[in-house]
Amino acid sequence: MIKYILLTPLLFVVSFVSAQTEVQPCSAHKHLRELLKEESFRKQYDKDQAQLKLEELGHQQNKAGTIYTVPVVFHVLHNGGSENISNEQILDGLRILNRDFRKQNPDVSNVVSNFQSLAADIEVEFVLATNAPNGECFNGITRTRSPRTEDTGSDIYDGFDQVDAVVAGNDVYQGYWDPSKYLNIFICKSIGGAAGYTNYPSNFYAGSMYGNGIFSLSNYIGSIGTSSGYTSRTLTHEVGHWINLPHTWGSTNEPALQTNCGSDDGISDTPNTIGVQSCNLSESTCGTLANVENYMDYSYCSKMFTTGQKSRMRTALNSSIAGRNNLWKASNLNEVGASGALTLCKADFSTENNLVCSGVSVPFTDNSLHNPTSWSWSFPGGVPSTSTSQNPSVVYSSPGEYSVSLMVRGSGDSISVTKNQYITVLNETGIAPIQEDFENLIIIPSDKWFINSFNQNETWELTNAASSKSVRIDNSNKTLGSIDELISTTTTLDLNLSASISFDYAFAEKQDDNSDKLKLYVSKDCGQTWVLKKSLSSSSLKTAPNTSSFFIPNISQWKTATVSSNSLSSFLESDFRIKFVFENGGGNNVYIDNINIDGPVSISENNLIRKVKLYPNPAKEQINVNFYNKKRVKQFVIKTYDVVGKELGVVYDAELPEGDQVFKVNIANYKPGVYFISVGNNAESKQYKFIKE
Ligand SMILES: [Zn+2]
Repeated sequence: MIKYILLTPLLFVVSFVSAQTEVQPCSAHKHLRELLKEESFRKQYDKDQAQLKLEELGHQQNKAGTIYTVPVVFHVLHNGGSENISNEQILDGLRILNRDFRKQNPDVSNVVSNFQSLAADIEVEFVLATNAPNGECFNGITRTRSPRTEDTGSDIYDGFDQVDAVVAGNDVYQGYWDPSKYLNIFICKSIGGAAGYTNYPSNFYAGSMYGNGIFSLSNYIGSIGTSSGYTSRTLTHEVGHWINLPHTWGSTNEPALQTNCGSDDGISDTPNTIGVQSCNLSESTCGTLANVENYMDYSYCSKMFTTGQKSRMRTALNSSIAGRNNLWKASNLNEVGASGALTLCKADFSTENNLVCSGVSVPFTDNSLHNPTSWSWSFPGGVPSTSTSQNPSVVYSSPGEYSVSLMVRGSGDSISVTKNQYITVLNETGIAPIQEDFENLIIIPSDKWFINSFNQNETWELTNAASSKSVRIDNSNKTLGSIDELISTTTTLDLNLSASISFDYAFAEKQDDNSDKLKLYVSKDCGQTWVLKKSLSSSSLKTAPNTSSFFIPNISQWKTATVSSNSLSSFLESDFRIKFVFENGGGNNVYIDNINIDGPVSISENNLIRKVKLYPNPAKEQINVNFYNKKRVKQFVIKTYDVVGKELGVVYDAELPEGDQVFKVNIANYKPGVYFISVGNNAESKQYKFIKE
């Protein structure tokens, strides 16, 4: 229910909406139209609608009397952006939903006189659930990190992928949220071009989180944060659909079609309408004044449900169809924690960044539930080492791993939690050039590379499957949309010199519609903020043909990616870090190797060679230089240099054919120390660091 804000005369609203001009108000009717093409759905849907019609005629309580309480869970699906809306914004959305359903919205007094007497208090309320399916207490909001928050695909999008991502990501609370126990509201960044959609109740979707869920854009929830008053009533509209209200112009028709006057919504007190696209209060194209202020219109001035809509919604809530009548039963409200006073049930805390440099202030957030009244923190190794604030900040001065404890009190009880090795203060920084080829490693060294895995256990691992050692994610069983990060410790980049980053990677899709992404971020403040510098997807990420069998690249199935010195000039700082982020899009395994953070060594785009390996490194007698030569080079040169750039010897100077190459360099006479080996031709060469023991 966008409000057709472009038509409003207010200038600031026009600018607000400019980024959203593509968004359709609601696509519920389009989803239904698509579904009805399928006979199995149509049969069940027609049967359910006929049944609901009978039930509406038969039951007086559908009209008024009891207040029904519906337990709600908001599932925020995000990828670290502004779509990860705050708890406050979600609570504001819930407040507006309740306000509108209980006719407590002040603007209802402005409804045009013809409809004043029809504006109804639906006598339905919505309360956050506080018990998860596994019985664990929570705050009624789940948060799952996944690129599936975004769907820019077809106009008619189904949210199965988004539900799957939420289910896979919420293992803490157990994945399946029974839709006859919870109203599941999925908050996403994009949902196929609409602001919201849902399905009418039908046994076709019995038990399905997707079929009984509501999908909403994150910036159409509430009136604060990323939303606004104009976009705040999408949820009121969608919940109307969810309990069986069509649009006022009927279920299956587009708004604004001149032929629409014959299409009825089946509710006697909402006049037929062509489908209004503005707040024209005297709209009467179909012969009678249209109820453009109805929540089930697309106008930006909606402010009421009618008495007839009330009866229809309450009928659906009293019906066993799709299990709607279980939601508000006392036994269910008890089970999901949506009745009675909330007592202290959990001690918990978090911080945004638990990999920090020394001297950086680390803010902690109390996430304890419910209603804690006092806090007792313990920060061994930190300053301060204890605190009684709810949300304290702490500074650590020495590298290492630190535990954090919190004890909370509320209404007499106390609960404690300790998170061991929760904060890592990074070690002394390395100095560029940094060259990581993973060659002499048995495990990924935890003081140099940090791994964050969202959603799933399989993550970056060391492997020697691909002719030499590299890091890999085994994607054979990964959940679509899972995210894995590989984050470096800090590096000092010389302020007087340019810097660049390069790395080798290999990846294959399983099929053409895979949507995997490999991204490289850099930070100059030790990881407090990150800037995207490289994003590889589809053809730029693929290095080999599609395969459904376990992908292991051969030496010609690698590519090199480079971040140029120009784009890094503002990052020349001592607290420089890099972060690889792989977003699973259904593809095969991904590999990374030969990560170079270059300081003084200048390189151009590596057109000649790839997969350069120096081993062993450090070396005593002999060092092997292995690389893949991309094309025949007439004069290929390999030389060694000392640390100040003095040439020490010529290893090779001749024509070199395409293919895998190994050169053995005798360094027995070198003194222990740092050396470089230069590989390439006169126009283009690259230097690699090695250490003589
Ligand atoms: Zn709608």
